[in-house]
Amino acid sequence: MSQLWQLYRMNQLDTEKDKKTIEKDKLMKPDQLEKECKELEKELEEFDEKKKKLHLKMKKSELETDGVVNHRKKLEKKIYDGKTKNPKELLNWQLEIEHLKKKQEEKEDLILEMMEKMESIEEHKEDNKQLIKEKEKEIKTANRSYKSELKRLESEMSDMEANKEKIAKTVEENLLKKYEQLRRIMKDHMAVAKIKGEICGGCFTNLPDSMIKQVQAHHLVTCNNCMRILYWEDKKEDTKEDKKKRKKKS
Ligand SMILES: [Zn+2]
Repeated sequence: MSQLWQLYRMNQLDTEKDKKTIEKDKLMKPDQLEKECKELEKELEEFDEKKKKLHLKMKKSELETDGVVNHRKKLEKKIYDGKTKNPKELLNWQLEIEHLKKKQEEKEDLILEMMEKMESIEEHKEDNKQLIKEKEKEIKTANRSYKSELKRLESEMSDMEANKEKIAKTVEENLLKKYEQLRRIMKDHMAVAKIKGEICGGCFTNLPDSMIKQVQAHHLVTCNNCMRILYWEDKKEDTKEDKKKRKKKS
């Protein structure tokens, strides 16, 4: 097997690995879901805080209502026990009782309103709890798929790296150096270009016959236009894998 063929295989592996790296970078951790879940949990705490405050307010209103009711009852007792005959005083008490009744009604309405509010908070809280449960399930699933995808990509990448290292051991050092250098320079990281007909597979310019012949004789030749190392595919070197790939494509 020629050195150039090995280099070409190496380039294919490197390209595949680059693709996997991009795929790996694109893998989404369920961060957004976790953030949403945290917000819901915070809301849940806020609901509890609201409930606590409302409960205190309700208790206070109930005590105040009790006070109003007791006051009214005392006045009613005074009116009906007959101890006072003073009409002016009786009238004043009567007016005050009316006023207290109104006050009691207002307080009771307020309590009712607060009770409704409490119910609505309770409902929201239950909805919130349900949402948290769903989010937690989603996070679990997302985490699982993230981890398994990461594991798959990392194992594929390490296989490629191992393969590359194996090939690299068979390639001359100066050639390897040139390859790595070119890979760094090239925008698409393609350091080796396969000759297609009479055309450089890297930049698609025509190559002179003499150049192609040199490449076919396994000499190190670079394209005058794109500087890539030229490779001629010798069918004997074609791997079973490549054949399979081509079969799939056609
Ligand atoms: Zn070229």
